[in-house]
Amino acid sequence: MLETPASVMRTAIYPGSFDPIHRGHTDIATRAAALFDKLIVAIYAVPAKSLLFSVDERVALARAVLAACGNIEVVPYTGLTVELARQRGAQTLVRGLRVISDFEREYQMALMNQQLSPTVETVCLMTSYEYAFVSASLVKEVFEAGGDVSGMVHPLVLRALIDKRKAGGEPS
Ligand code: ADP
Repeated sequence: MLETPASVMRTAIYPGSFDPIHRGHTDIATRAAALFDKLIVAIYAVPAKSLLFSVDERVALARAVLAACGNIEVVPYTGLTVELARQRGAQTLVRGLRVISDFEREYQMALMNQQLSPTVETVCLMTSYEYAFVSASLVKEVFEAGGDVSGMVHPLVLRALIDKRKAGGEPS
């Protein structure tokens, strides 16, 4: 049997756009943090989707929301996630699965990352039932339409959504 030296720190990266961080993300991050010595929540600066919050705003919100979790670090990044993993000595990428339709994309991405870096494993955690319907885009859409999203996001994120609406709704 292969033995892992006790001194090897198990570090995982949880990458995403987090625009903004919501309770579905927080649930995956805190559950993953319990499985690894260290979890790096990595906020992709320039995803191929339209953003409400700048990368600095997304990082600041995630840091505030996850502050109580001592082994979670929040960082911005650009470029390949596997390259970030290499730089930070992480062996695992964590992703969350909500519905079947998430699976296809996550599966493709996991295989691509395996090609790019065979030593980095992808681990998918199933959503907690109560967050299965929560996505950042839906949170923003419902909020914009005047719906109550207070059960889906941390109060600090709700405050940021309100401030953003007042400011005209562009990343700053
Ligand atoms: P979103 O899909 O909310 O815009 P991201 O693109 O930032 O979020 O996704 C980052 C990771 O978090 C992805 O693996 C995504 O599947 C996962 N995730 C997002 N929302 C949830 C949720 N409600 N439950 C579980 N995982 C989730």
